[in-house]
Amino acid sequence: MSCAKNHQNYCKIVATLGNIEGREDIIEKLMLAGASVFRMNLSHDSVEGHSAKIKIIRDLEAKYKRPLGVLFDLQGPKLRVGIFKNNRVILKEGQKFRLDLDAAAGDETRVCLPHPEIYAAVQPGHALLFNDGLIRVRVDGVSASAMETTVLTGGELSNHKGVNVPDVSLPISALTPRDIENIKKADGLDIDWFALSFVQKPEDLQLARSLIKSKAGIIAKIEKPHAVDHLEEIIKLADVIMVARGDLGVELSPERVPVLQRKIVSACRGAGRPVIVATQMLESMINNATPTRAEASDVATAVYEGADAVMLSAETATGRYPVEAVRTMSSIISNVELDSEFEEYMRASHYEPQATDIPDAITAAAKVAASRVDTANFVVTFTDSGTTTLRAARQRPCVPILSLTPHCEVARKMSVVWGVQAHVVKDLKKFDDIEENIRVVLGGAAEKGTQVVAVAGIPFGRTGDTNLMYVITL
Ligand code: PEP
Repeated sequence: MSCAKNHQNYCKIVATLGNIEGREDIIEKLMLAGASVFRMNLSHDSVEGHSAKIKIIRDLEAKYKRPLGVLFDLQGPKLRVGIFKNNRVILKEGQKFRLDLDAAAGDETRVCLPHPEIYAAVQPGHALLFNDGLIRVRVDGVSASAMETTVLTGGELSNHKGVNVPDVSLPISALTPRDIENIKKADGLDIDWFALSFVQKPEDLQLARSLIKSKAGIIAKIEKPHAVDHLEEIIKLADVIMVARGDLGVELSPERVPVLQRKIVSACRGAGRPVIVATQMLESMINNATPTRAEASDVATAVYEGADAVMLSAETATGRYPVEAVRTMSSIISNVELDSEFEEYMRASHYEPQATDIPDAITAAAKVAASRVDTANFVVTFTDSGTTTLRAARQRPCVPILSLTPHCEVARKMSVVWGVQAHVVKDLKKFDDIEENIRVVLGGAAEKGTQVVAVAGIPFGRTGDTNLMYVITL
């Protein structure tokens, strides 16, 4: 079966924003093309540099009466080499190359690697990768302040290029002093999530949680081997998971990314945790108006896997065809979701979640009711915290999920969740408010005779008590 009944795109699009000076209308265009979450990367700009975009997004929300997500991506402990006398060197396979703590400019024989933790952690035989994994060296010997290496894969290495150390868990927090400063600065700015880069262990998330004073959630970027090892605990502690395939591919090799992506998406779906598949999805559209066939297939794979969202990075931040990239992604999503075998593929890639409590049993029943009754066009969740909506989305019901909540910040967080359209409504006070709210939200959109399957909790206003399924014929 396809998910064609009353279809709107179920898989969401996250678009990264770069410098938009002089073309501020780009955000509206990206939104109209299909983006519902906007990501700002703090590796490339400051909190102050990004903050004007938040106002534009919130104004668009008011104009279109549609909650939008705002995501600040923290840089994390990106490790980098120092500088070279001639700005760059060419490293040749088989040559010796020394890394040390001496800040003096480097040359073909050595360069500064100003991170003492690395010398303390690596051992002979371990690999170090430079420049997004393009250059690989093997550690031959190491002391507290220097290491001798042999170049296994050569190439050009220039000032401040990134370093990956995939073989060890470095004793460093995912939050650098700059990240902590950025959390403090951005926390009051009406953003919905902070994304944590290079998460290695559950404690990284606990530290971030203790620093965030607003209602902003946490997105854990899975890009380190040790995060993969701790996946289950990280999924429990994060609000959203991102398969950050760029650094994941450097740390673990590109060949391992597809299998890990499938496993991470499946684990998140099982836990009812929203998951974003990110990086290089339509990479060639940075320069071209159409994607490669392989890129189109890559986006389609994530959609067939049932990912909540797919993400564009440089394609929308600095690329020549940002709106076309979102439009293309949106069209790939519709094509997949309207495939007559989509539902079977999407469900086959994942074990059906078992209902282990009453709220899960109710949301599972809502999915069954909505799919068995031809005239049932929506599942409606009344939610205070968003939890009931996440439970409903976990069932992947193949009719749109209307998430009705009295809280604007909860509605915004639904912008990343599979199949959900969120609306801010008045608090439920009495039973008749259920139908009243649905009618207000649907307005003219619901034909007479349309059925909606509503789930809610009675008594009203108590979080986590979903215990009611109510089928309403409009
Ligand atoms: C990634 O590595 O895939 C990623 C999303 O992180 P960033 O773009 O910040 O490197």
